[in-house]
Amino acid sequence: MSFELPQRYQQLREQALALADSVAERAAEADDSMTADPVMRKALAESGLTALAVPRAHGGTDEKVDSLAMTVVREALMGTSAHLDGLFGMQGIGSLALSVAGSEELKQTWLPRVARLDAIAALALTEPDVGSDLRSVTTTISAGADSSVAVSGHKSFITNAGDAAFYTVLGREDDGYSLVLVPADAPGVLVERGPKLIAPHILGEVRFDDVRLPANHRVGAPGEAFKLVLATLATFRVSVAGAAVGLAQAALDEAVRHTTGRRQFGSALAELGPIPQLLGTSWLEIEQARLLTYQAASRAAADPLGNLHLSSMAKVAATEAAGRVTDRAVQMMGRFGLITGSKIERLYRNARPMRIYEGGNEVLLGQLGRKLTKHRVSAG
Ligand SMILES: Cc1cc2nc3c(=O)[nH]c(=O)nc-3n(C[C@H](O)[C@H](O)[C@H](O)COP(=O)(O)OP(=O)(O)OC[C@H]3O[C@@H](n4cnc5c(N)ncnc54)[C@H](O)[C@@H]3O)c2cc1C
Repeated sequence: MSFELPQRYQQLREQALALADSVAERAAEADDSMTADPVMRKALAESGLTALAVPRAHGGTDEKVDSLAMTVVREALMGTSAHLDGLFGMQGIGSLALSVAGSEELKQTWLPRVARLDAIAALALTEPDVGSDLRSVTTTISAGADSSVAVSGHKSFITNAGDAAFYTVLGREDDGYSLVLVPADAPGVLVERGPKLIAPHILGEVRFDDVRLPANHRVGAPGEAFKLVLATLATFRVSVAGAAVGLAQAALDEAVRHTTGRRQFGSALAELGPIPQLLGTSWLEIEQARLLTYQAASRAAADPLGNLHLSSMAKVAATEAAGRVTDRAVQMMGRFGLITGSKIERLYRNARPMRIYEGGNEVLLGQLGRKLTKHRVSAG
């Protein structure tokens, strides 16, 4: 692949940066909010960027969702606001299974609204006692005699809970696993917002109390859930890497601004002791992560499943780098890096959850190791 992003993606980046700039003054407030910020939501909707999250046949931009486009836009948004990035990214994560395998009626009902951000999407996999080990979910999905489908269970830590118009819900069905699209206003859906995290998020607990829906609310055939969950991860995991690169770059920019502006011992901080090495190390780590991320994203755009290992590598590399870069930036900024409400303090907090969601980094590293040794571990 070329080391330059094709022009289309450069234009998308410019468009996303312009959007982020237009709401930058709102970022601290929005990033502290546990409900969708109306100003951010309106600006994002007006930008038209959420159409990238949906296939063209149902109101989206591209024939199928393009991982590189999602990645480049998330990189541009996350440097300014995690809230804005989350609103954008979840439109795809919450709706991809529907785009791939929903009934035509369901697609026509929801996808154009997702593309316009009229409807906020959510994906409900995690439960109070089930995180990485998704095959242990206890939510049940069952077919009713009257060709309906019933959903019962408790989903936990669901992004957009309370603001979402629908939840794509994973549950057990007989010996397999299925997905059902549950409209947020269906009888039996109960949302409790929270908990509030160190990096606040639109987050909540969602209970499904014997929710009954027409059978066309199934997403994919019974038993097909993991194929669709995997398709979702394969398309979007790399976009988390993009967001992490954008966040890390913003932290480095803050560190450069501060260390070149502040003087101690008669010199700019940027010239003192280990500070040049710390800045250089962060720059290096960001460029490494960015290159791997673009490489993985462009491969995922062509073949998401075939390149999931690269997407996982990029996700781990970029989120771990973001953790180190933000930590170093705080250190270089001394006491000014600790002030609640400062940009660097917000970036420092927002970097932390990224190593946990969309595949815990240890889980992904374990999968990579097993992929590497599959068929090669000797039997004896
Ligand atoms: C901000 C945020 C938003 C979220 N949004 C959503 C959402 O929209 N929808 C949704 O369904 N969920 C969501 N989640 C939940 C998220 O998907 C889980 O947190 C994630 O899957 C990890 O599960 P867990 O937190 O229960 O950790 P656990 O699975 O309990 O893991 C704990 C630790 O052990 C490690 N670990 C676990 N298993 C292994 C293993 N086999 N090998 C090595 N290490 C392992 C993990 O990497 C982690 O470090 C969100 C979480 C956060 C923080």
